[in-house]
Amino acid sequence: KDEIRLEGVGLHTGEGIELRILPRHRGEGIVFLRTDSPKKVEIPANPWEVTATSFATIIGNNGTRISTVEHLMAALFCMELSNAVVEVQGPEVPIMDGSSLDFAKAIKEVGLEETGLPERYMAIKRPFKVEEQDKYIIARPYPGLKVRYVIEFPHPLIGRQEKELDIDPDTFLNTISPARTFGFLKDVKDLRSKGLARGGSLKNAIVLDSNGVLNPDGLRFKDEFVRHKILDFLGDLALLGRPVKGEFEVKKSGHTLNQRFIRELLSHKEAWELL
Ligand SMILES: [Zn+2]
Repeated sequence: KDEIRLEGVGLHTGEGIELRILPRHRGEGIVFLRTDSPKKVEIPANPWEVTATSFATIIGNNGTRISTVEHLMAALFCMELSNAVVEVQGPEVPIMDGSSLDFAKAIKEVGLEETGLPERYMAIKRPFKVEEQDKYIIARPYPGLKVRYVIEFPHPLIGRQEKELDIDPDTFLNTISPARTFGFLKDVKDLRSKGLARGGSLKNAIVLDSNGVLNPDGLRFKDEFVRHKILDFLGDLALLGRPVKGEFEVKKSGHTLNQRFIRELLSHKEAWELL
């Protein structure tokens, strides 16, 4: 097999969307292609194409946008697929079950073959930090890829959660990819009133009220929240466009700070090298 096909519902539109992933030569990176628009517009997955970061990472080119790319990008990045064409038959990547599990499983099962010269790594060479109030991201040199993440939410079920792990395809598949996105009931009502999250349901997100989880089956992991934040971070890191070697210490970040971090890291060329 030389392609991956998946289908699911768009979180914001609530409509069924088809997704196809095709192999590409090494060094060409990930490119998104919206196949429902009359003109097929290519949107390369890099930080310069990111147009919005509230609720999800959205990439766009000349008015054509694709939303919610981060869970798929995390799966591509961590399952070591750095070059692919992603065809999306609609304005957003299907939300699937709110995690990266279906994407990661499909990538592992199909095993798309990349061709061409071996991939070059982006290796962190010296410590680099961005911060904003009590949030920060620090990158340090490390022979593999490691993330240490801390979140703090004033909610009885979340509170402070902390997780540190080395990321490789199997660890990602088993430990991080099943962690679902989460939201608070009051915010869900807010989004709905703005016409967003129409496809959102307990099938594709953990929804919390002030006491606990509304999902009948509860959580997949006690620390599913911090695991999902790691997933989101890896999905944003994926926009660096190549495999990465480094250790990342992250506190309370979100898509907006993640994007600032990767843009600033790319422009601080003394902080990294290509190996
Ligand atoms: Zn997410």
